[in-house]
Amino acid sequence: MDPKLPEPSCREGSQNTNPCMSCGACCTVFRASFYWAEADDATPGGVPLALTRQITPHRLAMRRTEGPLPRCVALLGTPGQTVRCAIYDRRPSVCRHFDPAWAAGRDNPRCNSARAALGLSPHEPNLPNLPKAA
Ligand code: SF4
Ligand code: SF4
Repeated sequence: MDPKLPEPSCREGSQNTNPCMSCGACCTVFRASFYWAEADDATPGGVPLALTRQITPHRLAMRRTEGPLPRCVALLGTPGQTVRCAIYDRRPSVCRHFDPAWAAGRDNPRCNSARAALGLSPHEPNLPNLPKAA
């Protein structure tokens, strides 16, 4: 683990129990957009508004999750090696609801497609139950 990174505040579990902590692909592939009222100017303790950008009258997106080379402004570390979300406890609902493929026995093809974009192997159906991590 990179000693320069802060103590885990993002992805639950450890490198051994949570594959998201050595991945971060979804944070570098997809636009993370959500309803404006999730931001902390409307909801105390919500997503830090300063880390977002307005994309429609009613929706925000995490900064730097758009464009040809997206990488969320809140993602720390090296994707595919060691990562964590700097705002884990305040991340938007779109991130909270994004489960690793086959976590809790459910597939998530978008997880594996993000991993493929990073050159990472897909999760298989035998992935053990994991905490929500992205
Ligand atoms: S949800 Fe999937 S793509 Fe996102 S960090 Fe976890 S394993 Fe990687
Ligand atoms: S807010 Fe956190 S979990 Fe969501 S895309 Fe950004 S780094 Fe990933």
